[in-house]
Amino acid sequence: MGQFQLRCVSDGSLQPEYALSCPHDQSLLRAQYRARQIQPRDLPGIWRFLDWLPVERVFPGFEAGPVTYKSRGLARELGLENLFIGFNGYWPERGARLPTCSFKDLEAAPTIERLKERGERSTLVLASAGNTARAFVHAATLAGWPLLLFVPEKALDRMWTVLSNGAEQVTLVAVRGDYYDAIVMAEKACSYPGFVPEGGARNIARRDGMGTVMLDAAFFLGRIPEHYFQAVGSGTGGISAWEAALRLRGDGRFGDNLPRLHLAQNIPNAPIFYQWKGLPAEPISEDMFDDVLFNRRPPYAMPGGVRDALQETGGDVYGITDGEAQQAKRLLEESEEIDILNAPAVAVAALCQAVQEGRVRPKDTILLNITGGGLARMREDFELQALQPLAAVKSWEEAAELLEGKR
Ligand SMILES: *Cc1c(COP(=O)(O)O)cnc(C)c1O
Repeated sequence: MGQFQLRCVSDGSLQPEYALSCPHDQSLLRAQYRARQIQPRDLPGIWRFLDWLPVERVFPGFEAGPVTYKSRGLARELGLENLFIGFNGYWPERGARLPTCSFKDLEAAPTIERLKERGERSTLVLASAGNTARAFVHAATLAGWPLLLFVPEKALDRMWTVLSNGAEQVTLVAVRGDYYDAIVMAEKACSYPGFVPEGGARNIARRDGMGTVMLDAAFFLGRIPEHYFQAVGSGTGGISAWEAALRLRGDGRFGDNLPRLHLAQNIPNAPIFYQWKGLPAEPISEDMFDDVLFNRRPPYAMPGGVRDALQETGGDVYGITDGEAQQAKRLLEESEEIDILNAPAVAVAALCQAVQEGRVRPKDTILLNITGGGLARMREDFELQALQPLAAVKSWEEAAELLEGKR
């Protein structure tokens, strides 16, 4: 037995260490760690939670992690006594140093470390609307790992790095389409020998990396929070928070509740919101407040997916308009005195709504995951280098030609 066993959520069946899917159904896989109680290590950042990460070692050069603090400014505005912010971005004054300013850094580092430990030598293939790509570029570059990225052309302005040798191992392909088109191309690229998928929501290294936001909060609070707010696209962060809370409950020292998941989407591009509410989906809008929150195929209905996470925690999904998000963004930035990305503003708007509707009470313990921020703060300290795409492609045929040339 290794540090963990990998089991299907549906039937508990044991699966090989690196499996991404279950043989009998669509179920997600989940790691069952040997350490029932987590002992925080004397290691930097995310590695403090090594007991509950599917890796054996720390990844040299990546020392950042989640940060939790008690809110004063926003808490006062909303009349909340126990509002805690999980700040996942760059804010050195609070100890937050995620190198690409979003919690995708927490997914990328354990994913790359796990590939290294596996001895896998293939090129990692990824589709992303921006933040994931940036995080994986950073982690892969630190590790000298080859990476093939498909990014919608509209998201190219989010492709930057603070590393001076940023582009060497990375092949960046701009896709003339949306995130979904990028996903389809990445899937096709993985059918080529020498290219492997990273697995998205099915990858336990990604989920358990994100789960450290909940772990960090639990250690800070001494308990599992009663509510968890997050803006979601795929909803994977919600699944991660739920899974981390299940482990904390099993640990026994953090209480026996599960945090109610309050997941927020930006309407009208909000498939999780419509599915959860049983509403017909609205036509897709080309423009949205933050397109990192649009995923047309979220891991919703399968065992261990978003629906289970919502049902088991008594959670709910919010549909937030652009205007509400805009207003919430201003409120948070002014009250907490830090800039945030657009996506987490959608979670802040959901929190405002929950307070207004009495869905959270003034004394409740609330964790608000600010999934990305401090970009303006980072610009004060670093020169951000734009990453240049190798080419822009419209169809898979064009992309395939490009890859043939690379081989
Ligand atoms: C990816 C992302 C989200 C949504 O994450 P899920 O995978 O849906 O949990 C939210 N905010 C930011 C900044 C992101 O990059």
